[in-house]
Amino acid sequence: MRVAVVNAGSSSLKVKLYNMTQDKLLESYLVEYIAQEGGVATHKEALESLEIDFESIDMIGHRVVHGGEYFHSSVEIDDEVVKKIEGLNPLAPLHNPANLEGIKLTREKAPNIKQIAVFDTAFHTTMPEEAYLYALDYKFYEEHHIRRYGFHGISHSYLLEQSAKILKKEQEELNIITLHLGNGASICAIERGKSIDTSMGFTPLEGLVMGTRSGDIDPAIVFYMQRELGYSVDEVDKELNKHSGLLGLAKSNDLREILSKNTPESRLALEMMLRRIKKYIGAYIALLGDVDAIVLSGGIGENSKILQERVKNFSIVKGKKVLVIKTDEELQIAKECLRLKEQSVS
Ligand code: ADP
Repeated sequence: MRVAVVNAGSSSLKVKLYNMTQDKLLESYLVEYIAQEGGVATHKEALESLEIDFESIDMIGHRVVHGGEYFHSSVEIDDEVVKKIEGLNPLAPLHNPANLEGIKLTREKAPNIKQIAVFDTAFHTTMPEEAYLYALDYKFYEEHHIRRYGFHGISHSYLLEQSAKILKKEQEELNIITLHLGNGASICAIERGKSIDTSMGFTPLEGLVMGTRSGDIDPAIVFYMQRELGYSVDEVDKELNKHSGLLGLAKSNDLREILSKNTPESRLALEMMLRRIKKYIGAYIALLGDVDAIVLSGGIGENSKILQERVKNFSIVKGKKVLVIKTDEELQIAKECLRLKEQSVS
């Protein structure tokens, strides 16, 4: 079975072709700088430039960042699903419209091919109320859907599956903590194969110290920046999402660069990132009790020996199993296509 996985981001388009009968990657395409200087103007142009014959493919899987409270698992895309995803645009204004653009284009190109949407939030829909609610007036949840959704679910679920294989246990028997540490970063407490808490919240801004995002801060800083420093809402948004984290602290969002600089600022940035990770691991061990393994992934988790050693040597982690697993979100989406196909046959 041939599967195409489409990951349409705000300025990039990634497409991977798989032969899922053999779990094999056939082709990989990437177009960057869409609608930016030096790039093509639209996603449509980007897709055309790849000259992929979508009609020759059995199924197309799309990454969709936000599935809200509606999508608990992957679904076959129809007009109704497209409308539902559109309805979630205000919750993910940077991501969902781009994801939808990808869906619309491939539906036009290959109207007869089954297409499915795989959501980054779906894995976390198992979180209990006490984990996903914020301690705000309940009306903000009831009327405005303000709650923790969590992201990187495609990666965390892939890491769960791989951990089960490595540890030779059923997913339902596993208590693990998975860390996806890339430019964006999140950590997930998985109890008996289900996400029960995660560090990203209403948006991907909450939680760990990331490449350019602050992660957890006192929300009163936002009022202060506006009232006292004269920042507009959009400027504060930009500061916290694009100019903070490693970049804000050490002038680079790239951990490799930070490690090679070895300046007081770069050492501080690393220590702050590690301290936040340590606090979350501690919190999740408190939630889970016994933990079968702690799983490191994402560009940083997979490659940084320094980070791996430091995490292994946290006093709360010492003696526990630490696995390093290369994540593969596109393969996970392709597997979801296969799973849905098998479901519809049986
Ligand atoms: P994205 O979230 O954009 O997919 P990645 O998962 O590729 O990002 O992770 C990017 C991060 O991984 C960068 O901070 C990069 O410096 C870091 N990284 C990659 N290789 C190494 C390495 N060998 N040592 C330390 N950090 C690394």
